[in-house]
Amino acid sequence: MMSKKTLAELANTQSPCDDYDPNSMAVNQARSTIKAYLNPVKEIETLGIRDSLGRILAEDIISPFNVPGHNNSAMDGYAFNSADVQQSGSTTLRITGSAFAGNPLTGSVQKGACIRIMTGAAVPAGVDTVIAQERVSANTDSITFTDTIKPGMNVRLAGEDLSTGQIVLKQGHLMRAADLGLIASLGIPNVKVYRKLRVSFFSTGDELTSLGQTLEAGQIYDSNRYTIFGMLSRLNLDLIDFGVVPDQPEDLRLTFATAAAECDVIITSGGVSVGVADYTKQIMQEMGDIGFWKLAIRPGRPMAFGSISSENHQAVLFGLPGNPVATMVTFYQFVRSALLQLNGANQTEPPIIQAISEAPIRKKPGRTEFQRAILGRNTDGRPTVRLTGSQGAGILRSMSEANCFVILGHEQGNVAAGDWVDIALFDGLL
Ligand code: AMP
Ligand code: MG
Repeated sequence: MMSKKTLAELANTQSPCDDYDPNSMAVNQARSTIKAYLNPVKEIETLGIRDSLGRILAEDIISPFNVPGHNNSAMDGYAFNSADVQQSGSTTLRITGSAFAGNPLTGSVQKGACIRIMTGAAVPAGVDTVIAQERVSANTDSITFTDTIKPGMNVRLAGEDLSTGQIVLKQGHLMRAADLGLIASLGIPNVKVYRKLRVSFFSTGDELTSLGQTLEAGQIYDSNRYTIFGMLSRLNLDLIDFGVVPDQPEDLRLTFATAAAECDVIITSGGVSVGVADYTKQIMQEMGDIGFWKLAIRPGRPMAFGSISSENHQAVLFGLPGNPVATMVTFYQFVRSALLQLNGANQTEPPIIQAISEAPIRKKPGRTEFQRAILGRNTDGRPTVRLTGSQGAGILRSMSEANCFVILGHEQGNVAAGDWVDIALFDGLL
């Protein structure tokens, strides 16, 4: 699944004006380096439509017929031919039959007549318009009304949702609830999707203790493996959890080799900064290919991207920083889109919207920042955003309290209260 170019070549060619500086790469350049390096999976499987939820379509879905298949009523009421209606004053029409959803009128509707019709019932030949039952005075065999009639009103036309031969969903589409229904409405029971990615993940650090064990002095519980698990679980992947690996080169080599032989992608946390115990970068150099390991981003400056080879198999590696918020920010910023791309998705970037900052925010140009915030509304009903207290890279509570990131771009300086800022909502993202 690797590109033919090496990562250093790719990183160099991304932006000819910028010097390739692996010591601190701008977020946009890092993103395009990753994008150019990944080759999406090709293998396809056929699934029943329910099982395709959250998967990526590997084929175009083409409508085999019109939906709806026939003109039908949008209201409970009476159907007639608009040519039979008086231009002004009142119109009286005889009721000569009825049509129900799934039980159409047999026969036709004569001139000057109407039929009782229910929502979803086929509109028979010879009539083009429906009036809602609330708008008429009716007795057992006729109706009278004075409303101005627009020909065609309250009639849903054949093919107005989907027409025969139309591409309904494109290859690369991420299947959501509406799509299951849309495909079902075409009578299609199975669809082709790309196979699931196999993704392994582990935490590194001698200080990490697993849940259920007692904390010794200087130790902390491993939380990143849980946030990473949660974020990955949103993406419909086959997951392999390799647990906590100590800061020992031999343990790390062995885990990397096992993971790379089995998986498409490896995600680690910790061990990518310049501390003496930070071996991930070194091992990536030995066993694979290294793209970058430092970014102009906050939080998340140390982050490694590259690949690891083992038993003739290569896996993409994301070495996320250990600080819990930095782990989540870099996952959101790089890993999520990369996994979608590798899985064949044609839309990988989450939507960015804007809100008014309630307070000033300090920001240095020269790095992209992701601050945790809460989206709300001011008294005019306009969207506003306020940061969730302390923004330290280790303060995971700032993520739990927040419902969005405020994204401050590379060139951006300080934000004044009242300025519009970019935000990305967490919902559906993390
Ligand atoms: P590192 O990137 O390994 O230098 O770690 C940076 C900071 O994140 C240190 O304070 C670590 O203790 C902390 N950290 C690293 N891994 C984890 C983890 N899995 N769960 C919680 N904190 C972590
Ligand atoms: Mg560490």
